Amino acid sequence: MLVDFILTDEQKAIRDAAREFAEKEFPNYAEECDREEKFPFELWKKAAKLGFIGMAIPEEYGGQGMGVLDAGLVIEEFWRVDAGLGMIVATTFGSEQIQMFGNEEQKKKYLPPLAKGEKICCACYTEPQAGSDVAGIKTRADKDGDEYVINGTKMFITNGTIADYYVVLARTDPNPPKRHHGMSVFIVEKDTPGLEARKLTNKLGIRASDTAEVVFKNVRVPKENLIGQEGNGFFQTMIFFNVTRIPVAFQAVGIAQGAFELAFNYAKNRDVFERKLIDFQVTQEKLAKMRTKIEAARLLTLQAAYFQDKMGMPDPALTAMAKYYSAKIAQEVVHEALQIYGGYGFMGEQAISRMYRDARILEIYEGTREIEIEIIGRSLIGKLPSRISAVRKHPLM
Ligand SMILES: Cc1cc2nc3c(=O)[nH]c(=O)nc-3n(C[C@H](O)[C@H](O)[C@H](O)COP(=O)(O)OP(=O)(O)OC[C@H]3O[C@@H](n4cnc5c(N)ncnc54)[C@H](O)[C@@H]3O)c2cc1C
Repeated sequence: MLVDFILTDEQKAIRDAAREFAEKEFPNYAEECDREEKFPFELWKKAAKLGFIGMAIPEEYGGQGMGVLDAGLVIEEFWRVDAGLGMIVATTFGSEQIQMFGNEEQKKKYLPPLAKGEKICCACYTEPQAGSDVAGIKTRADKDGDEYVINGTKMFITNGTIADYYVVLARTDPNPPKRHHGMSVFIVEKDTPGLEARKLTNKLGIRASDTAEVVFKNVRVPKENLIGQEGNGFFQTMIFFNVTRIPVAFQAVGIAQGAFELAFNYAKNRDVFERKLIDFQVTQEKLAKMRTKIEAARLLTLQAAYFQDKMGMPDPALTAMAKYYSAKIAQEVVHEALQIYGGYGFMGEQAISRMYRDARILEIYEGTREIEIEIIGRSLIGKLPSRISAVRKHPLM
């Protein structure tokens, strides 16, 4: 197998355009949106005009039809400058269920407005008592003639108060043979009676991103809003997470790269003991280790994305490795970067302080660190279909 680690000219152009946009636009919003916990609608619209929203949505539905790797390059560049603002890309989050399992009518209706930056989507899986344990959800969707009636509470939903479309996992069989059976996925449109969203404030990081509790009280949806097959919801959702974890790995690489660059420049300019901070061997060692970790995480993430683009589906273990490792080194890198800033980093006025807070989410959402490790472990003992086994060296071999 030949692996070419050099980006094509087209990929470099995508990366450079994303970098230019983020470096020019993000500083105008970053501090204010973080402080006021405000979603940057204006920035999101600008990004949509340039094709940075709905990147992975197929062209026939108004998107850019990009592969995971190409879209990941944009996400990395956005998170390199600011994580909270980088979440504008997640305004199509949840639409992957429609792309993968929806019917033609649903795709034509829901995907184009998302791709154009006219509508916002959210994905509702987590509940107050069921996060990592998706099979523990209690939200119900009971069939009533040609409709389903949804009742339940979803927690920590990204875009919850600003969304137009809610992709919702609910129980359609209250007594399934196994606890992960009998679930289904629905699209609920904003303004459907009984749907209420409450913004959750005072988050540690990614504060420009909207997070909400979403309550469904006798919310009626037509049976046409079922995505995929009734009863298949858990399995669809597991595939969904395998697909959406790779972008999170790119987020992690991006924030680590951004923190590294800030610390590197700070060390070059900061005078200590009548020398530049970077002239001390201890500082160089810190920066060298940070840079090495980022490169390793980037390669693993690119490999997971490359695999998905090549095979048309993600490898669950490889994806989990990319997210687990990149999220882990992102913590280590922002930690050391803040250390290089000393007291100025701790006092909270610098972008590095925001990055320190923002990075923490990477080990929590879309599968906690522990859940990623569990997935990798299960693949090793053959309990999860994956090309990665204890003996194979590379999933594409
Ligand atoms: C900012 C933010 C945005 C989010 N966006 C969304 C969204 O858009 N849609 C959505 O549905 N959800 C969203 N989530 C929810 C997120 O996916 C969950 O928080 C996450 O899955 C963990 O669930 P939990 O918080 O209930 O923690 P728990 O599942 O209760 O976990 C608590 C701790 O126990 C550990 N643990 C759990 N099970 C095991 C196990 N079997 N073995 C070992 N350790 C275990 C976990 O790793 C963790 O450390 C978001 C969360 C946040 C904070």
